[in-house]
Amino acid sequence: MDWKGHTILGLVFGLPFISSPEQIFLVLAGALYPDLDHDVKEDIVKRGIYISLGLVLINILIYYFKKEYFNLDLFILAVSVLLIYLIPYFANHRGITHTFWALIFVSVILGFLALKLTIFSPILAGIIVLLMVVNEKLLGKILIIALFGWIVFDILKPNPLVSGNFSYILPIAVGYLSHIVGDSTTPAGVKAFYPISNYKLRKKEGYVLILVWFLMVLYILERCNIVFINF
Ligand SMILES: [Zn+2]
Repeated sequence: MDWKGHTILGLVFGLPFISSPEQIFLVLAGALYPDLDHDVKEDIVKRGIYISLGLVLINILIYYFKKEYFNLDLFILAVSVLLIYLIPYFANHRGITHTFWALIFVSVILGFLALKLTIFSPILAGIIVLLMVVNEKLLGKILIIALFGWIVFDILKPNPLVSGNFSYILPIAVGYLSHIVGDSTTPAGVKAFYPISNYKLRKKEGYVLILVWFLMVLYILERCNIVFINF
């Protein structure tokens, strides 16, 4: 599946799980991250490694020379972001980035990063996280597709009733899930449990995951209804 397919599938999967429109960018970041393991994306991965490695080194320098300004949270975040790029750098195509383990790790780190960046602006936070996984050229095209998602969001106004850290992690995780589902419907399939198991998800498993997603959407709608009736 190419970036267009993953972008559109990501939007469809993610829209019911976002609570504000700028979280569309987080959904798309999750949907597009796994293919960073592709050779053609090497420029994005190398850019990420240089920037995050720079941030790690700055944190180390602050620790040694200006300890009172050292922030452990920021240091851990910089190291985690570096890992987010080292994983696709060393991975084979459709390897570890196309697994449920990577889904959890990447969603938590990028979600936490987005949450931290919202102190500047929620929209900027979303765009920065999206720009971390695409190049500038692709960003323009993806933003046009995201605009359609924004309009659909405005009409449907989904309300998944999640808050705090989780409201940033969930959109990325659902976008990521859409990527695994999308690739499992292609002839090559996806080893989503690698390296624990080499079991390949194919079309059949892809449809099961779509059913799981659909049940999650129904659950959310149900919860919204309960709240609606109660109030
Ligand atoms: Zn892929």
